[in-house]
Amino acid sequence: MDPEVSLREQVRAVLAEALPRGTFDPGLGMVGPVDPEFSAALAEHGWIGMAVPTRYGGRDATAVDRFVVVEELLRWGAPVGHHWIADRQIAPVLLRFGTEEQKMRLLPPICRAELCFCIGMSEPDAGSDLASVRTRAIAVDGGWRVTGTKVWTSNAMSADFMITLCRTGDGARHHGLSRLLIDMRSPGLTITPIRFLDGSTDHFAQVVLDEVFVPTNMVIGEIGSGWAQNTSELAFERSGPDRWISSFLLVEEFMRAEPALAASRDGSRWIGEVVAQYWVLRRLSLAVARSIDAGQEPAAQAALIKEMGTRFEQDVVNTLREMLDRELLCDVSRDRPPPLFERLLRRAVLHSPSYTIRGGTTEVMRSVAAKGLA
Ligand SMILES: Cc1cc2nc3c(=O)[nH]c(=O)nc-3n(C[C@H](O)[C@H](O)[C@H](O)COP(=O)(O)OP(=O)(O)OC[C@H]3O[C@@H](n4cnc5c(N)ncnc54)[C@H](O)[C@@H]3O)c2cc1C
Repeated sequence: MDPEVSLREQVRAVLAEALPRGTFDPGLGMVGPVDPEFSAALAEHGWIGMAVPTRYGGRDATAVDRFVVVEELLRWGAPVGHHWIADRQIAPVLLRFGTEEQKMRLLPPICRAELCFCIGMSEPDAGSDLASVRTRAIAVDGGWRVTGTKVWTSNAMSADFMITLCRTGDGARHHGLSRLLIDMRSPGLTITPIRFLDGSTDHFAQVVLDEVFVPTNMVIGEIGSGWAQNTSELAFERSGPDRWISSFLLVEEFMRAEPALAASRDGSRWIGEVVAQYWVLRRLSLAVARSIDAGQEPAAQAALIKEMGTRFEQDVVNTLREMLDRELLCDVSRDRPPPLFERLLRRAVLHSPSYTIRGGTTEVMRSVAAKGLA
């Protein structure tokens, strides 16, 4: 059997045994719940930090192998929140820019799912325009003192470290930016939850840094190289299955919960269109994973996939709502929760507006793709 197909079968078998359908509340894509125990169980199989060399605790696998695992996890709605950022972004960043000491210290616990990370890029006046970040790090004895405010920081409450873009020098906007790994338990760091559309307060936060000390050995790469580093990792962040698969489970559950509607003329035509679009996006996304394995940096292609994939994810949610043509059940009683499809659709209605914002907005993706592919 083809090794990629065989890996997919293994992941499916493990998920079916560890998380049988009906025994857990599935998540929608990468916003899966935070479950350190589940992440640790995945790590036992070698499925976290897969592309990390064995000497740092990984499996020396490829970006395509990771694609295979991630696609299955997200399709299943698995609770990936604990290890998501570490696996997708931090491990590749450390491999590329980290010092030997950082690799030896941080990569093995990442591969064992012992560390959770969050991303501190956005600020109140710097979202799309990241070159405007104002969080400032000032050199002091043995390290840096960081002061500023980060906002929309996903999973700040459960993270051990935040990869933080900050200003370490003056001059042109894109210069003088650096990235530091900040311990979330540092004195001077305050996390304040931000209420999400669905009322939850455990996902989002504002992180205020008041002269937080960061030792020199937690600077990633050269001081002043933050902008270039950031740009180079976009292919990892924007092109994976997480950017087009968030509504997959919803379509699957729609077919289970509403078989007559799904088999109707309009329903079956729509399902055909959805499957065709999934296939196209999957092929594009896989092509980016293969070019990452070939040592390329397909940032423009990744932006295009994010633009197409997240719009598609939203279209699925909107069309399902229109097809149902009724109000969603709002009974939140614990004794009689609404059926899974209804719960997923309710959640998707509240979460899907964010798909085209998080990780870079649609307008910005179009701009990156147009400039990069011109
Ligand atoms: C669910 C979710 C999770 C997030 N998680 C994180 C996280 O973990 N860490 C983190 O750092 N950030 C996170 N963010 C923040 C996210 O990256 C920003 O919201 C996003 O980059 C947009 O920035 P902004 O909100 O400041 O909007 P703005 O940049 O102010 O944009 C407002 C509007 O103007 C448009 N616009 C802006 N610039 C241009 C331009 N040059 N050309 C054309 N149109 C433009 C945008 O497309 C948008 O429609 C998250 C956001 C969401 C919704």
